[in-house]
Amino acid sequence: MSVLDVLVWPAKVLETKADPVTTFDAGLKQFVANMFETMHDSGGIGLAANQVGDLRRVIVIEIPWSDSKYSEQEEKQEPWHDKRWVLINPEIIKKSGKIRWQEGCLSFPEIFDFVDRAAEVWIKAFDENGKEYEVHANELFSVCIQHEIDHLDGVVFFQRMSRLKADIIKKKMLRRGPLNNA
Ligand SMILES: [Zn+2]
Repeated sequence: MSVLDVLVWPAKVLETKADPVTTFDAGLKQFVANMFETMHDSGGIGLAANQVGDLRRVIVIEIPWSDSKYSEQEEKQEPWHDKRWVLINPEIIKKSGKIRWQEGCLSFPEIFDFVDRAAEVWIKAFDENGKEYEVHANELFSVCIQHEIDHLDGVVFFQRMSRLKADIIKKKMLRRGPLNNA
């Protein structure tokens, strides 16, 4: 396994739509393993392939229940906590309600802001073995899935915020300079 470079905005690939996975092979499994290692190394709870410069529709998610850093808004342990989720070619088949969560993103270091999303989503996806499954997500899992599917569609989180907030974030990021992407 290896840790991949996480690209930060304004890397072009973050605003490029990813393509469906058509081949489920050993190379894909290796890529998924590398994505988990990269996400753990960066201290994230979700990662989309775009963020490591790969335009395949692949997402990994793992939300630790014990980690207080992410549990401010979480009320109780859910079945999706502490599990490794692989979402390949994910599709939202149903959504309901509204939720507002303070989101962060590995491609926007040290930036956190509130985004409105559907409270619950029902997802259809494939795992790394090519097996199709469905899952219902609420709370942080739901927020995370919607954030990561946005990445696959080339949408970054400030595009879900007001123009004013988006401009502030863009300015902050551009002030950081391009060296962060080395
Ligand atoms: Zn992100």
